Amino acid sequence: MAKNTSPDCKQCRREGVKLFLKGERCLTKCSFDKRPTVPGQHGSSNMRKKVSEYGLQLREKQKVRRAYGLLEKQFRIYYEKAVNSKENTGWAMLKMLELRLDNVVYRLGIGSSRMEARQIVNHGHITVNGKKVNIPSYQVKVGDVIAVKENKQNLEMFSSLKDAKINTPKWLEFNTKTLTGKVLALPEREDIDLGIQEHLIVEFYSR
Ligand code: SF4
Repeated sequence: MAKNTSPDCKQCRREGVKLFLKGERCLTKCSFDKRPTVPGQHGSSNMRKKVSEYGLQLREKQKVRRAYGLLEKQFRIYYEKAVNSKENTGWAMLKMLELRLDNVVYRLGIGSSRMEARQIVNHGHITVNGKKVNIPSYQVKVGDVIAVKENKQNLEMFSSLKDAKINTPKWLEFNTKTLTGKVLALPEREDIDLGIQEHLIVEFYSR
């Protein structure tokens, strides 16, 4: 399967924002804090150039696609589904991204980045309502119970969570003792960070 091989920190510099792709390191030793310029020889001068409307739309789309770690084809499918929904297209798209199982595992703090969360799901360490689910794109629903599989809870990467202080968004809850989380409600617009302007993504695809 194709995958994005662009170095993580370079992606943040390209998009001009911290995308938090490297877990713990993003909070402690972030290279973007030291060098927030666009990659390449003319990075600093490129930052001063006036960006076209198309450029703004493209960058916004790339920023969100990279933050959620998706390939273009996968990302576009969310847009197409959102167009057919009854809700505002931009918001419908963001909500579907946020409800992906790998994102929820990340938001619960089980994975320190979305990429790590995806690997955890891929490796079959997660159950939804008691059944193993190893599909990162699986859409969770209100009331779903997401847990680390009982026979995997002693793995170092999970046992260390038992003493951790995890701040989950208000639409989720997580019990660090049982390593079990629950979807309490659907996310609301203010629950999604990164200063996303989803209308630019919709404009990009509807050109
Ligand atoms: Fe690298 Fe994380 Fe900082 Fe992005 S936020 S530049 S991935 S350390």
